[in-house]
Amino acid sequence: MSEAEIWQIEEDEGLITQAYPRRMAKRELKDGIIEVERLSKHYPPDLKAVDEISFTIKRGQIFSLLGPNGAGKTTAVEILEGLREPTSGSARIFGVDISHDYDKIRKRVGILPQNFEPFEMLRPLEALEYWAHLFNMKKSNKELLELIESVGLGGKKDAMGGKMSGGEKRKLGIAMSLINDPELLFLDEPTTGLDPKARRDLWALIQGIKKRGATVVLTTHYLDEAEKLSDDVAIMNKGRVIARGTPDQLIEQYGKETYIVLVGVGQTAVEELAKRGITSHRENGNVVVPVSNPRELRTMFAKLSSIQVEFKDMYTRRQTLEDVFLNLVGQKMDEGVLRA
Ligand code: ATP
Repeated sequence: MSEAEIWQIEEDEGLITQAYPRRMAKRELKDGIIEVERLSKHYPPDLKAVDEISFTIKRGQIFSLLGPNGAGKTTAVEILEGLREPTSGSARIFGVDISHDYDKIRKRVGILPQNFEPFEMLRPLEALEYWAHLFNMKKSNKELLELIESVGLGGKKDAMGGKMSGGEKRKLGIAMSLINDPELLFLDEPTTGLDPKARRDLWALIQGIKKRGATVVLTTHYLDEAEKLSDDVAIMNKGRVIARGTPDQLIEQYGKETYIVLVGVGQTAVEELAKRGITSHRENGNVVVPVSNPRELRTMFAKLSSIQVEFKDMYTRRQTLEDVFLNLVGQKMDEGVLRA
């Protein structure tokens, strides 16, 4: 059977707007903007940088590839950005096979590469003018200034790229990636190395981009970032996707326990609890009691209240993606580095 018989192609002025298997209802495809199947990238002699990964990314969502340095995140997204050839497997974006037809969809995609650095001697407006020119796009100064405002760089529009802070540089990078008003935006580690305030600023910016209707593919090694921003997460390690789901699903599936935190008590409380057969440990100046089944919380609360331990406050804390990662990989991740 020929490609044409299998694929229904819809075009607008030579640009493929939609392509979907004839056997598949159009409605089904609407959700999946990226479909990755058993995608691999091998480097000689025997490195499987990406090893048979498969997933579907839904339109309008923030999808995170989360994993430590060297997990294969950048390799995977660079294949999806049309910058690297896979060794095997396939990927379709907007229904188009990216190995053959990337040029047909390139205009609908925006990219912020890893470690983006702006042109040192250009101000934001000049950088964007240059960028628009490279993309053969006509943009008025008003449009470009609006773009600068929209990423929160209004107050820095006269600053040279080389004189900007790390967070401002990334914002300018995001503005550049948005120049073609993309439906799909790849952000490769957009907050790596930034301070907490700059990271939060960028989180708000990324959420705003999603609100405007774009689909965002984010790579990150920050567990809190993935938990905060993502609709869907694929955790990668050693080239493979080792877990996949919404942050809630991952926590439910791979998180082990809920905790009751007793605030303002010390080691004597741990000992007191142990006498009553309750296991606990100290954490950040508090005492933490793990409860394996949330249904047992009520009973444990009752037990704790009846014991003579003077605590200032008591609250529950469920596991986070940080715990999920530890449970899955057996190591913590700190700035992308695995620690024992
Ligand atoms: P990081 O956050 O450090 O960029 P990552 O998860 O994005 O990590 P990749 O950059 O995709 O990981 O790298 C995956 C593996 O592939 C690493 O072991 C890396 O050294 C290797 N690799 C990447 N590019 C090449 C290349 N061109 N030739 C050989 N090996 C490569």
